[in-house]
Amino acid sequence: MTDRYASFVQSGAGRALVKRLGLPDPPRLRRHSPGDPLLPGPVLLGAATGGRLADPVAAILTAAGVDVSTGTTPPTAGHDDAAAADGPAGRDERAGNGGAPPGGGTSARFGALVYDATGITDSTGLRQLYDFFHPQARAVLPSGRVIVLGTPPAECGSPREATAQRALEGLTRSIGKEFGRGVTAQLVHVTATGDAGTPTSLEATLRFLLSGRSAYVSGQVVRVGTGPAVVPADWNRPLAGQVVLVTGAARGIGAAVARVLARDGAQVVALDVPAAGDALAAVVNEIGGTAVQLDLTTADAPTRLADHLAERHGRVDVVVHNAGITRDKTLGRMDADRWDAVLDVNLSSQERINDVLLERELIPEGGRLVAVSSIAGIAGNRGQTNYATSKAGVIGLVDSLAPALAGRGISVNAVAPGFIETRLTARIPLVVREAGRRMNSLAQGGLPVDVAETIGWLAWPASGAVSGNVVRVCGQSLLGA
Ligand code: NAD
Repeated sequence: MTDRYASFVQSGAGRALVKRLGLPDPPRLRRHSPGDPLLPGPVLLGAATGGRLADPVAAILTAAGVDVSTGTTPPTAGHDDAAAADGPAGRDERAGNGGAPPGGGTSARFGALVYDATGITDSTGLRQLYDFFHPQARAVLPSGRVIVLGTPPAECGSPREATAQRALEGLTRSIGKEFGRGVTAQLVHVTATGDAGTPTSLEATLRFLLSGRSAYVSGQVVRVGTGPAVVPADWNRPLAGQVVLVTGAARGIGAAVARVLARDGAQVVALDVPAAGDALAAVVNEIGGTAVQLDLTTADAPTRLADHLAERHGRVDVVVHNAGITRDKTLGRMDADRWDAVLDVNLSSQERINDVLLERELIPEGGRLVAVSSIAGIAGNRGQTNYATSKAGVIGLVDSLAPALAGRGISVNAVAPGFIETRLTARIPLVVREAGRRMNSLAQGGLPVDVAETIGWLAWPASGAVSGNVVRVCGQSLLGA
């Protein structure tokens, strides 16, 4: 499904019209291609007094070939007036002061602003955020990144510190809404215990969030904990040697997941119902994977799948539970079959498969479970009581299984997509579809590849310190925010 409005806006004639009429202005997002540099420009790295993460972050970025500046002028400063005038922030400022940077700040251009806020221990210290970000509010390149690093409030040593750390969410979520031009903003909570905060624990998350892989992820709080992280020999193939199962891989998001994970080096076992056999075969032929035709809801599906994985591969390093269905009706009109079918495919089948794979120890230490939830599971949705229940259940599964499997070195996470351009969303009536597309900070729907890249990051051996997260891939949708 193409977004004709976004294509029009990104054309020369469209740009002029959109600016004149003040219409939604979806920017062209920076998406990842293998071999791309992490960022389109240097990083400005700042830290509150007493922060514990600036040094490891500087080491990670420098090793990744990124220019790191701790002053306010980047090594390759330039001025791009056209880009600076785009987006919601640009519109506000033109109305207010003729387009000059707020506060008379620098005209420098950074690929990202990264700020270590772990040193902030009470609310008066929050002023340091203003001092760092205010002069840079116009200094981030289109599709640039803002990352704030904090301490999980629950781990803070005093109520005042916990309060100040919790306050960071308001800043990052607002920056995500304010900077425009495809700039995204995230808060990363880095545990202060164990080896967290070392380059090994943080590197995967920083690389993902800074890169074009996270194009449609914004306004998120990601937790980095203490699980073991294995750094790849080549960051262009972060899944090299991994055996990955992707359910619902014949089309849509699942097919994109299969492609992205194969591109990143994984050996992909792609599963879908027998009726989707031809489409599934086309996907596996394209990526050099193998196909399993299986209806996940049949009684013997978990054992048949486990037998297949045991015989062919001896293990499965990553399980991506993507298969899902909708059977929409308002609750009063919904028959029990619709309820049962959605709960069974979207939630119960995942539990049954996890149980058998874990019991037979087919998921080794360092394994990954990644499930696909939905923002409907967070916000609820009219006509989708069954679907939203199943997708909220997926979040419950992450909450309960992540701590239970930590001892086995297996991480459990979920993605919660928002409006993604697929057959599913193409069927939504036009007006509702347009609202869904535009009601987010990026003013556009995401692509299946955006969900796939996020799943890829959670699947990397290098992401062992990331567990128990539900990461929305929704362009910071207003729903459930
Ligand atoms: P889709 O309908 O295009 O693909 C789903 C795939 O799952 C299909 O190939 C289907 O055959 C397979 N499948 C369904 N039941 C199965 C079963 N019993 N056994 C094996 N395979 C089965 O859907 P999509 O849009 O690609 O969605 C993929 C996932 O993302 C789903 O879990 C969906 O709920 C979730 N999601 C999608 C969106 C969106 O905007 N498209 C938003 C939020 C969440």
